[in-house]
Amino acid sequence: MERTLVLIKPDGVKRKLIGKIINHYEEKNLNITALKMVKVTKAMAEAHYIEHKGKDYYDSLIEYLLCGEVCAMIIEGVNVVEMVRKVNGNKDPVKAEMASIRGQFSNDVTQNLVHASDSPEHAEREIGIWFPEKKSK
Ligand code: ADP
Ligand code: MG
Repeated sequence: MERTLVLIKPDGVKRKLIGKIINHYEEKNLNITALKMVKVTKAMAEAHYIEHKGKDYYDSLIEYLLCGEVCAMIIEGVNVVEMVRKVNGNKDPVKAEMASIRGQFSNDVTQNLVHASDSPEHAEREIGIWFPEKKSK
């Protein structure tokens, strides 16, 4: 079964939006198979955003992920990677569909509440960072 890694980033946790965000996944009838609060380390943040190293927003992105706890989840299902990215919405809050999580709750391109893996391969790599106990063999 396909899996994806979702993070409710620190702004979502601080704004007390965990329940409302999870509700979007549940209303889409998606299956959350693991969930926990995580105190992020610098090593985890850098491993997670390794592809963005060198971008002009990289330092603020790492700082943002380190500014509080995140809520990490694994969601499983058919085509779940693509589906969860639809539920999250475009990273640009102006472009995000209004019914998506970002469309509904975010107005910032960096502090945009949620992360979801962009491919099944990346999902497995990211699950290894946030849920080492659930790593595929
Ligand atoms: P997504 O989170 O939709 O997969 P990306 O992988 O492109 O988006 O970017 C990862 C994260 O980096 C975004 O969610 C956002 O927090 C931040 N980010 C991306 N692009 C920019 C940008 N141009 N300016 C500021 N922050 C950005
Ligand atoms: Mg991404």
